[in-house]
Amino acid sequence: MEDKIKTIEIDGVEFPFNLDKAFEKDGHVYCRECEERIDSDPLNYLGNKKILFRRQCKCDREEESLRKVKEEADHIRRFKEECFLTSRNLNSCTFDKLIAPDRQEVIIARNFVKNFKELSKENNGLIFHGNVGTGKTYLAACIANKIIEDYQIRVKMRNIPQIINDIEKGGFDIDKNDYYRKLSSVSLLILDDFGIERNTEYVNEMVYQIINTRYESKKPTIISTNIPLDVIMNGSNDIDKERIYSRIREMCIPVKIVGKDIRTELGRKKLRKTRDLLLGDR
Ligand SMILES: [Zn+2]
Repeated sequence: MEDKIKTIEIDGVEFPFNLDKAFEKDGHVYCRECEERIDSDPLNYLGNKKILFRRQCKCDREEESLRKVKEEADHIRRFKEECFLTSRNLNSCTFDKLIAPDRQEVIIARNFVKNFKELSKENNGLIFHGNVGTGKTYLAACIANKIIEDYQIRVKMRNIPQIINDIEKGGFDIDKNDYYRKLSSVSLLILDDFGIERNTEYVNEMVYQIINTRYESKKPTIISTNIPLDVIMNGSNDIDKERIYSRIREMCIPVKIVGKDIRTELGRKKLRKTRDLLLGDR
């Protein structure tokens, strides 16, 4: 369909508009949709000349705010993809799905997000410790998702064997320092399952480099681990380990994840349903 352009004269200045989208009334032009005036007041131009411009109407403003919302959602989606990379299912972990919102570790996690800007200035991170199956990974992922949503900044969540595997896969082609730099460039790094990696001089050196580059770039790190806290806090006789632990002690505040799993009620419902299905009528 061809646009129907009409030009009228307002205050001696020509003003073209699309008849399909606007109409003229009493010497001014109005949007057909929202009926707001779209010709601006005349502006002086080069002293003696006047110009008019098309001003935004309600439809334009709404369109723009919609575009902004969409752009923001795109950003968040991309940041989450980059954050979880190989474990995409973690991008659905959210605080509102937790079954024990009043537990201390959940409150700490929420406050970590709320005060992230302040905490990251001081390079304050967290270390989640506790038994297997208490939901440390889940809680860390809640933090990652909320920080991405609230601040639209870059977060990476990786486990150490994954990182080591990445570096090893690269062989001689990979510039390790460049790899560490990339890890340290994100606003928040979450190292999941710290301590399950092989205990060799070679691996310990890599782990040290990862943690030390975060330390030197003064950016916060969250670590989740099954290693008992006192092992990390009391200092180790193993020089390789102690080097790593002492950096962690300087950067991370211990948070104990206690008791039963804090994961979603949804997961529990699913388990109950499965159990009922398996047990059948009794
Ligand atoms: Zn309009």
